[in-house]
Amino acid sequence: MEAIKRNILLNPGPSTTTDTVKYAQVVPDICPREQEFAGLMKGLREDLLKTVHANTDDYTSVLFCGSGTINIDICINSLVPEGGKVLVVNNGAYSTRAVEICEYYGLPHIDLKFKVDELPDLDMIEQTLKDNPDIKLVHTTHNETGTGILNPIREIGALAHKYGAIFTVDTTSTLAMRPINVYEDNIDFCMASAQKGLMAMTGLSFIIGKTKEIIRSKDYPKRSYYCNLYLQYEYFEKTGEMHFTPPVQTIYATIQGLKEYFEEGEEAKWARYMTVLTDLDSRM
Ligand SMILES: *Cc1c(COP(=O)(O)O)cnc(C)c1O
Repeated sequence: MEAIKRNILLNPGPSTTTDTVKYAQVVPDICPREQEFAGLMKGLREDLLKTVHANTDDYTSVLFCGSGTINIDICINSLVPEGGKVLVVNNGAYSTRAVEICEYYGLPHIDLKFKVDELPDLDMIEQTLKDNPDIKLVHTTHNETGTGILNPIREIGALAHKYGAIFTVDTTSTLAMRPINVYEDNIDFCMASAQKGLMAMTGLSFIIGKTKEIIRSKDYPKRSYYCNLYLQYEYFEKTGEMHFTPPVQTIYATIQGLKEYFEEGEEAKWARYMTVLTDLDSRM
């Protein structure tokens, strides 16, 4: 195996990849409708749950072909019942994207805006939930990638649940980077794409969420055909496959990326990142 030049990337993603991840894509041609490929995706879906300590009893993961934004789109367009409203706790560009998605689908929503360099005010969130019992979905971003603000998802999730809403969190820039536990962090749905914390390739995104909420959404208004969570989930359950052509090579790379992530370990990787940050701080 020839070593491939390693560039230093200063963008938020795609991240740099190891040679082993790159070469994992070089495989014999395969029809992704084969049993063999379905078996790979089954293992991948189970391993993705482990990255956020979710159990197969109550959580599932659903794969999509697309960049990370597809996950925000899918969660918001699929998980709001008729007459329900979305509350976006918004202190940055990625939560603003969720607001734009609500606008594009014409979904009733509240854009609860905070300054981009400030944490959201929990009392205001609670008051909004109290005043609007029709809020059925609360969405926010875990780490606003542009500013580095880390939002108090555990507290926001607890409030969402207190007022009978589900909580969806954009964890695209934290999953497989910073430890996440769906139970302790009150997360019903979280999401990421393969090219960020997992350090694999672009083209595969995934949502990890509560199975019973996906099943419940079966009868919610269908606002998209390609991007509906229940339809993709149901297809996986029935056939073990993606509804439409999967990003084959990216799936091989992601399986390798996950293997390398588990080998390093969640705590060890986070500790390594903290030393990188301290090192950067001391140089600034
Ligand atoms: C990278 C990122 C996304 C996805 O962005 P794409 O341009 O679709 O890849 C979504 N949310 C956050 C927080 C991100 O960092």
